[in-house]
Amino acid sequence: MEHISNLIKKQKQFFATGRTKSVDFRIHNLEILKSIITDNEQSLMEALKKDLNKSEFEAYTTEIGFVLSEISFTLKNIRRWCKPKRVKTALTHFGSKSYVYKEPYGVALIISPWNYPINLALAPLIGAIAAGNCAILKPSELTPATSKLLHELISEYFPSEYIAVIEGDAETSKMLLNEDVDYIFFTGSIQVGKIVMEAAAKHLTPVTLELGGKSPCIVHQDAKIPLAAKRIVWGKLLNAGQTCVAPDYLLVHESIKESLIKEIKLAMIDLYGKNVITNSNYTKIINEKHFKRLNKMMDSTKGVVRLGGACDISTQKIELTLVDEITWNDSTMEEEIFGPILPIITYKELDQLIKEVSSRPKPLALYLFTENNKVSSKIIEEISFGSCCVNDTVYQIANPYLPFGGVGPSGTGAYHGKKSFDEFSHEKSVLKQTTLFDIPLRYPNGKNGLKLIKKIMK
Ligand code: NAD
Repeated sequence: MEHISNLIKKQKQFFATGRTKSVDFRIHNLEILKSIITDNEQSLMEALKKDLNKSEFEAYTTEIGFVLSEISFTLKNIRRWCKPKRVKTALTHFGSKSYVYKEPYGVALIISPWNYPINLALAPLIGAIAAGNCAILKPSELTPATSKLLHELISEYFPSEYIAVIEGDAETSKMLLNEDVDYIFFTGSIQVGKIVMEAAAKHLTPVTLELGGKSPCIVHQDAKIPLAAKRIVWGKLLNAGQTCVAPDYLLVHESIKESLIKEIKLAMIDLYGKNVITNSNYTKIINEKHFKRLNKMMDSTKGVVRLGGACDISTQKIELTLVDEITWNDSTMEEEIFGPILPIITYKELDQLIKEVSSRPKPLALYLFTENNKVSSKIIEEISFGSCCVNDTVYQIANPYLPFGGVGPSGTGAYHGKKSFDEFSHEKSVLKQTTLFDIPLRYPNGKNGLKLIKKIMK
């Protein structure tokens, strides 16, 4: 507790020196962050292997490479982003000029989850550094090898009064949340997101909440089914389904259900071989608790298993399990699945589907496979979600030009690319008034002032 309080005090003092505000300082430290990753790529891969059995391919594409490309993108643009922006000024303010200045909040607390332990800790950190903040990172206790390595590397390359890692569980997290920091960036479950928001409310600290939920994947009757199947299997089995934006359940037009199931079976073999459990590149379920949770979900479903169903407790791996004939109140539909179980619900009418999805918590992501632009426009316009990908899954989050975040129960705020810089910056509005003349209209003693004001202001 004392260590945490002292650390925050030290960071606040360091921030007050103004050093982190210099753009050169930010660039220099982003380059340091880049070298932390490039110099230690192998150790990072090994930690991910130990914690999650992540293959080198997945570790690079979804974590290490992702963070490196976010740093490069930021380095390319940061000088432009930091400049005050001139904005228009209304006629009522004739003679003056208006600007938006970006300023760092101060000390940012970043709390991250276990499923992409490098990406979800370091991608927000890029935003925090780029915007000129100090930062404290609290990685997940469920990936001890990666969290320990992040702690060691960050302590080696950065002074703790600027950037520090505090390892620990929920209790440590709560202690950090008790402190008066200047910004909180939380990635994790909806349940803990509520705790974070409550803690932030005590100090009126601004927050970003990157949460989860059930992301639907709609496959319409005109979809290119083999391609849809391949992209669904890819997105669902990345990290063994333990991805916040994984397709959580399928909504399939009843006329194409059988052909989609057939193609999913083929895509599964094509991408992972006949036995995914023995595929050494297949990620494991994070721990026994989650392994049992997923098994319980498979046991209690009233649906019919059409593919998979097997699991191996010794390696904590579960096959892609496709469960057909699911109803909206099945056990698989109660909570975010966060594993390789894929329930199938069929629909006849789009309007009915839109009604059902819209009556549930707003999803973090929505996927739609269709060749019909009218269908995609209808879904995009009528359903609320954080992000959407038409004719693919998960891919939208890797485009730095698209903000990534949820809405309502799936999150507040967004990041990636410039949005990360914006998220960790406060926008200061500045009006620079002229002293060359003074328009008398707004003064109570101005002649005919109100008449003119009424004309201009309507
Ligand atoms: P979690 O909410 O259990 O934990 C996240 C972090 O919060 C961890 O660092 C943990 O130590 C801390 N924490 C746990 N309990 C706490 C408490 N009571 N008070 C304060 N802090 C606490 O989430 P998780 O299991 O690590 O991750 C899985 C969840 O995260 C899923 O719901 C998933 O959808 C979501 N997620 C969202 C995104 C996104 O970008 N939107 C990304 C990855 C994961």
